[in-house]
Amino acid sequence: MFAPELIDLPDPWPACRTARCGSSVAVARIDAPYGPVVVTCENGHYRTYQKKGDFRGRGRYARLFSEAAVGALPPRTARERRLEPNERRCAEIVEDAERCALCGTPPAEHPFRPDLDLRSDRDVWAWFQRWRPQVYAELREAVTIVQQREQVTFAGWRLKIPAALRERVVEALEESALQADHVVPFARLAPVLDALTMRELDFAVHQLLVAICRRCNDGRWRTALVREDYLREYVRAVHGGDERMARADTERWQLMESVALAAARARLVTDERSA
Ligand SMILES: [Zn+2]
Ligand SMILES: [Zn+2]
Repeated sequence: MFAPELIDLPDPWPACRTARCGSSVAVARIDAPYGPVVVTCENGHYRTYQKKGDFRGRGRYARLFSEAAVGALPPRTARERRLEPNERRCAEIVEDAERCALCGTPPAEHPFRPDLDLRSDRDVWAWFQRWRPQVYAELREAVTIVQQREQVTFAGWRLKIPAALRERVVEALEESALQADHVVPFARLAPVLDALTMRELDFAVHQLLVAICRRCNDGRWRTALVREDYLREYVRAVHGGDERMARADTERWQLMESVALAAARARLVTDERSA
């Protein structure tokens, strides 16, 4: 059974690449058997490592995580090898994306495109107003309360709001980080690899790779969905919610139907436990 792991990285870890950060203290976490390794510096900046090969065998970061988390053995069959994430392709997907394919939220910080980052406090407030209205409402309320006692400058609000709310604000911004992942998570496909044709497998690996925010993606693979759910996610993530357009591409729609059906039939050890 797969258990997510969180570890402190050895000292000194390569310095964080975020501008003006340079922190070399970091923790890493693996969430899913086929997901990326996410490394977080002490200031909360994220970097994802798609290539599990680096974390096993003679890889650069071998033995940091347990074998249960990374998978002791490299993939054996040609089919299993297809499930190895292609780091370059994943980077391209995130680079091209402006928003999460599932919820549409733009990331607060874009790892490849600083022009899309939230740069000023004004940007941050506008982002919350549009994408996290609940947090925005709480922010406004908190600032209004503080303003009854003292003046709050537009740049000074962060330090004046309650710590718990500040943490939620930071978390909401961090959770908007984009990751490349598959519409049908690989953890759901792995048990049914033999049920797929090579064409279906290639479709699942190459055409279903999209950019998803951490809020949508964390633990997503754990949820067993039915066929219709996977089809709905496909329509949303790949065709912007336009089902007619998705169905009009008959060839791909049929491939997607097969992949969705196979994934819906897959049973993971964790499913049986909760059932
Ligand atoms: Zn950093
Ligand atoms: Zn999302």
